Amino acid sequence: MDAARGRFVERCSRPNRADHGYRSSDRPFPIGRCVPLLALASGALAVGCSSNYEIAKLVAVGHVRELREPSQQAKPQATDRPTLLIVGIDGMSRDVLYDLLESGQLPGLESLLGGRTNGRLAHAYLDRSMLAPFPSVTLTGWASIFTGRPAAGSGIAGNEFFIREQRRFVAPIPSSFYDKTPVLETYTDDYANNLLEVPTVYERLRRQEPEIDISVSVSQFYRGADRLLIAQRSALIDMFYAKVKDIADGKAFAMFEERDRKVLDVMIDEVEDDDHPVSDVLTVYVSGTDAYAHAAPEPPDRALQRFMTGKVDDKFAELAEALLERGALANRYVVVVSDHGHSEVPHDATTMLSAADRDAPPAVLTGAGFRLRPLQLNVAADHDFNAVLAYQGPIAYVYVADRSKCAKKGAVCDWSRPPRFREDVLRAAQAFYDANRSGRYAPHMKNTLDMILTRRPRPLAEDDLPFEVYVGHGKLVPLKDYLGTYPHPDWVAFESRLRDLAVGRYGERAGDVILVARNGHGRTPEGRYYFSSSPQESVHGSASKRDSEVVLILAHPGRSAAELERIAHGVLGRDSRSWQVTDLVLHLLERPGRDAAAMR
Ligand SMILES: [Zn+2]
Repeated sequence: MDAARGRFVERCSRPNRADHGYRSSDRPFPIGRCVPLLALASGALAVGCSSNYEIAKLVAVGHVRELREPSQQAKPQATDRPTLLIVGIDGMSRDVLYDLLESGQLPGLESLLGGRTNGRLAHAYLDRSMLAPFPSVTLTGWASIFTGRPAAGSGIAGNEFFIREQRRFVAPIPSSFYDKTPVLETYTDDYANNLLEVPTVYERLRRQEPEIDISVSVSQFYRGADRLLIAQRSALIDMFYAKVKDIADGKAFAMFEERDRKVLDVMIDEVEDDDHPVSDVLTVYVSGTDAYAHAAPEPPDRALQRFMTGKVDDKFAELAEALLERGALANRYVVVVSDHGHSEVPHDATTMLSAADRDAPPAVLTGAGFRLRPLQLNVAADHDFNAVLAYQGPIAYVYVADRSKCAKKGAVCDWSRPPRFREDVLRAAQAFYDANRSGRYAPHMKNTLDMILTRRPRPLAEDDLPFEVYVGHGKLVPLKDYLGTYPHPDWVAFESRLRDLAVGRYGERAGDVILVARNGHGRTPEGRYYFSSSPQESVHGSASKRDSEVVLILAHPGRSAAELERIAHGVLGRDSRSWQVTDLVLHLLERPGRDAAAMR
């Protein structure tokens, strides 16, 4: 259950294709001995002090971080149950990927999907119904895919959010400030894993089959796997410390491509390593797609096309070849998934709702008399904040404390109590209502919000109520009625997806007020607003079709497309959500007759 928190074991030495320096003898050694390597390797990287330690650790890890004691690890045995490869592609729009595949422009990925017979993908089923969770952002998406639970159950409400009972702001992907420490800690210290309130798909697979062997490559969630494959410093760190200048110079594409090629190289090396059998479950995660789309001069669809058809696709071909050579593809299901799509925004930052104090969302709360938590990862333990903001692209969460118990400046609020509805929650909602209507507190906020959502708070341990629409003067309107009067034809399944986010044990992590920026309507980027600390060319997170439709492909070289469709529909139904990927994976690897006993 808690394998990922086990001993930190590094493997270093034999050079391989993926980098030149470290890998795989099985001799563990303490992290400290690797640190001097960083001094040589990091060169001119300008990074924060706390990040340096994380980078040192990352370098020390080499290519493989063993997550389980070797004695615990599986000795994969010959079995007739199929194996699995999961290919996660961050930010990949369904239409873009399927068009490329169907028109034969991705021969590499195609070779992982059983190839082409008579011009058709005869061994792959391309699902066209799956929707990302709301908000359609990275962490919420992958958490649902790898736990089988929506956000109100998994605890991952966004890329950054506030945990009231711990008085702790967490930011696996910081959006309202710049700090990459947690991004690195996700790989070195289980930062994102540790935020999960439920078991991962890997832990559930292990419950089903204790000796199963699982290798995961740079995905944020890997608890329960045997090993985490990490691309070397040159790949990961260059990306994390990408300067805006590099992007402006057009270097972003090459940088992100290089990164993903190295990520795939590490996986290919792992497959080729004949010291051990190929893992039963392999997960590989490509993220340059999303990173490049955010920064690209071209619209996101073209950015995604360009990225997928480049050298990354060649690496998929190499991975297929390596698997074939080891006889590890013939009875392997391949599941391709993405976490969200993308929507272009104006490239001049005029629609960015920034994190700056003046004329931006923070000014609304401070103007209305709240003591706002500074937009940064950590604050002093005795900080007296009574309001918190968290950004998720087109939406933002506002959390407020019960201010009656900490009214005086300097008094620390008890965040484990729910706030008062009128005096705290509606006061914040009204402040944003006024800002949106007249520019009060922050002139730039005028006409930037589509909706302000709020609800009566409930005690922490209880299930939270659904959000309603705040229409001013203390009044709330049920979402269904509001959407009846003001239809949002571009949005898909907003009501049910909002419930999945906000109604449940961890529903309060979506805040007391949700600000929904004007975004996702119409075909052009004009007037698409987003909350961010840095200008973007494209964002995602809204309930729009463009942001929400995700990839789900199920392939197996020994099965027909029709058979695969039946399997997928049997598990997913015809109107599916990302969190059902876990159900599909568990179903694919079930060993008849065994699992019933194992689950007991
Ligand atoms: Zn993104």
